[in-house]
Amino acid sequence: MNKNSSNTMALAPNTSNKRETVCIFGTGDFGRALGHKMIQSGYPVVYGSRSTQISNLIPKDAEVLSHAEAAQKAAIIIIAIQRQHYNFLTPLAEVLRGKVLVDISNNLKLNQYPESNAEYLAQLLPGSKVVKAFNTVSAWALQSGTLDASRQVFVCGDDVEAKQMVMNIVRALGLTPLDKGSLLAAQEIENYPLQLFPMWKFPIFLSLGLTAFFFFYCVVLDIIYTYIYEKNNFSFFIAITIPNRVCPVMALILLALVYLPGIFAAIIQLYRGTKYRRFPDWLDKWMLCRKQLGLIALAFASLHVVFTLVTPLRAFASWRTGKGIISQALNNKTEPLDHTNAWLSDSYLALGILGFFLFVLLGITSLPSVSNNVNWREFRFVQSKLGYLALILCTAHTLVYGGKWFLSPSAYKWYLPNIYILSLIVPCAVLVVKFVLIFPCVDKPLTQIRQGWERNPKYSE
Ligand code: NAP
Repeated sequence: MNKNSSNTMALAPNTSNKRETVCIFGTGDFGRALGHKMIQSGYPVVYGSRSTQISNLIPKDAEVLSHAEAAQKAAIIIIAIQRQHYNFLTPLAEVLRGKVLVDISNNLKLNQYPESNAEYLAQLLPGSKVVKAFNTVSAWALQSGTLDASRQVFVCGDDVEAKQMVMNIVRALGLTPLDKGSLLAAQEIENYPLQLFPMWKFPIFLSLGLTAFFFFYCVVLDIIYTYIYEKNNFSFFIAITIPNRVCPVMALILLALVYLPGIFAAIIQLYRGTKYRRFPDWLDKWMLCRKQLGLIALAFASLHVVFTLVTPLRAFASWRTGKGIISQALNNKTEPLDHTNAWLSDSYLALGILGFFLFVLLGITSLPSVSNNVNWREFRFVQSKLGYLALILCTAHTLVYGGKWFLSPSAYKWYLPNIYILSLIVPCAVLVVKFVLIFPCVDKPLTQIRQGWERNPKYSE
């Protein structure tokens, strides 16, 4: 192979491109980490600091000058200082005129100030071009090189050229700039690192609440009731039996809750005769956390599988099997195989296995690395069609398993229905309404509405 081919040449670093000097105000944690990374990427760095004494923490190839002297040496100045100290910049307004100021600051609370820090900086120094960037990257990640999770750098600013200059630096550092538009986006970018799993709050609280409710429901019916009326101590049910009842119930209900908002949305659109009116806030929020609800449901379903697989290892299971065999031996009578029972048990297991398989498939396709590789139609096919199929299979699994108890009076201890009856309410309601919605007389107007048709155009105002 010809070593001088253009391909080989393209891989060689371009050393002829001399980088422009970058000035960093502030020699704190972030200023030092960013300066270090910039020097590694070939940028001469000059620090503007209150103290021009060189400390051994500062990257050794960097210069440390007063703020005014340092600012004169560069066209881009990174302000690695907390917002509350920005006032010290006002006397430097003349030196900073026309320069690009990069605001990297974060706050301690969401929407802490009426305006974003970047907008505040732009108000203080109207002659400078303010760009917001780097605030979602941590000093630790910059220094340790573990930038994989925060490779994306949100950038926004009103001056297109200034924004471009900052995005070039971002790229040169091996990061990916994401243009978020004008400085108006700065508030959102500043709030971003302060959020704590915003989409997970509702699904987690709902799951915790429902799990606690079903757990105590089972404790009352399976342990306390049995102890009072049958004098049997089944307190050990707390470890495996009850969790293995609660997990499938939670998985089924949460899976149904993934599809319930879509049903509500369809009913609302049909009622209003338009898709151009916003859904109520609660429905919007519910729709946005469907993926999280589905993933928690998958976690419960997986636990149910593990609990079920360990059942034969339990002392209680061996005792019950042994008891059955001994009672047949004592009576000198072998019980014939109950074919109905055999069919029921094999069917519910088969339905459960197929349902779980689809459940896992739904979970896998919701991973960004997978969902980015399928088109919208394929994604919808898996999440909607196969999702409903998973719901049908899991509902049928529960119906076949618990169906025999629904009519038996022993299922209503203290007049309370069995947990499996409760678990079927939401999934059955979702499936019945969905079945109605796919009738052509309902589906046709709904499809038209979703394509932009309006029954009463006044709603689109
Ligand atoms: P830091 O370690 O406290 O450093 C702040 C620097 O600001 C100080 O070292 C000091 O530099 C300068 N300073 C302090 N008081 C000043 C004053 N009254 N007047 C002028 N300058 C003053 O803070 P940091 O962690 O580097 O954070 C700096 C900025 O980066 C903050 O706005 C923060 O929100 C943002 N940020 C930090 C991280 C992070 O991981 N640390 C991540 C993203 C964004 P001199 O002594 O050199 O003057």
